[in-house]
Amino acid sequence: MAALITLLPGDGIGPDVTASARQVLDAVAERYGHDFSYREALIGGAAIDEIGNPLPDETIEACEAADAVFLGAVGGPRWSDPNAAIRPEQGLLELRSILGVYANLRPVRIYPELAGASPLRAELLDGVDLIVVRELTGGIYFGEKTRTSDSASDLCEYTSGEIERIVRVAARLAEGRRGKLCSVDKANVLETSRLWRDVTNRLLGEEFPGLEVETLLVDAAAMHLLSRPAEFDVIVTENMFGDILTDEASMLAGSLGMLPSASLGDSRAGLYEPIHGSAPDIAGQGIANPCAAIASAAMLLRHSLGLEDEASSVESAIADTISGGARTADILAEGETRVSTDQMTAEIIRCLS
Ligand code: NAD
Repeated sequence: MAALITLLPGDGIGPDVTASARQVLDAVAERYGHDFSYREALIGGAAIDEIGNPLPDETIEACEAADAVFLGAVGGPRWSDPNAAIRPEQGLLELRSILGVYANLRPVRIYPELAGASPLRAELLDGVDLIVVRELTGGIYFGEKTRTSDSASDLCEYTSGEIERIVRVAARLAEGRRGKLCSVDKANVLETSRLWRDVTNRLLGEEFPGLEVETLLVDAAAMHLLSRPAEFDVIVTENMFGDILTDEASMLAGSLGMLPSASLGDSRAGLYEPIHGSAPDIAGQGIANPCAAIASAAMLLRHSLGLEDEASSVESAIADTISGGARTADILAEGETRVSTDQMTAEIIRCLS
């Protein structure tokens, strides 16, 4: 198939890991007979430096024209003044809104060889393979905000339509996995959560009767994620709860350098990015772990291009590379040999079936 992929390398290690993802996509295209073309555009600090705008018009145009968008990372100490009028993160938030990507998917998969890197005991991590689906464009982060000298408020609002569309994304994912869906809310306290629970129960009963459904309050979910993580398959929740739970879930895997993400909407291009930031402390050294970016490219193949076999083969190649012993600095244990970003990428390409 032919596809146009817009690459937004961004800042810090963003360009390094984006280059790795592109090499893997090229290798997939060659092996499976696809024709991927790329357009590279500026975002974040790099765009501020060059044009004075974290999301230039040409970048928006390149993203709107693409079948999928891949982002490295944005931000860094050079642009981190909290009082600055223009900040790199604004570019990313605006891009998510322009692309209409309301569903943020964050899979957490444990590679048995890396279980030692997690703060949790290895036996708790056995079989962990879950995905958190976070609502990305509604809720308290986007409601009206007020501030006086001694009080402040943030409005949390959800509509039935916003809840239905995100729960459908999660339910469809669960159907293609182990058939288990956990909905997380705070229905004992919040009106938005009571609506969330009513809409979710009705929709799942009507449209997805075959799923095994569990409902948890967010405080309990935070606990269960640590005490029985292997029992979760797909977790769906609203924006702020998802923000917190996805970071908690990412710690199960030990390193930020392993975890991908996808942000999806109804029709336009999905946005794919590793969950880590620009890692300024290791930028430019050629030592960043490219696995999160390459796993994000696998999600791009699956969700935007519909290439499931290709996506699975990239994910298997990452797993084989890890079990073969290649380790970037962030996942290195004593006695193991360290490889660079380029060597890790080359090994993953070698393992592609
Ligand atoms: P970070 O994820 O950049 O780094 C945290 C730690 O993890 C660092 O020690 C870093 O070296 C390490 N790390 C991260 N990714 C790695 C990889 N692929 N390989 C090896 N080690 C890796 O988080 P931070 O330090 O809090 O933020 C740095 C900058 O990134 C900030 O400006 C922040 O705003 C930005 N940020 C951007 C995004 C994004 O673009 N979506 C996300 C988070 C943070």
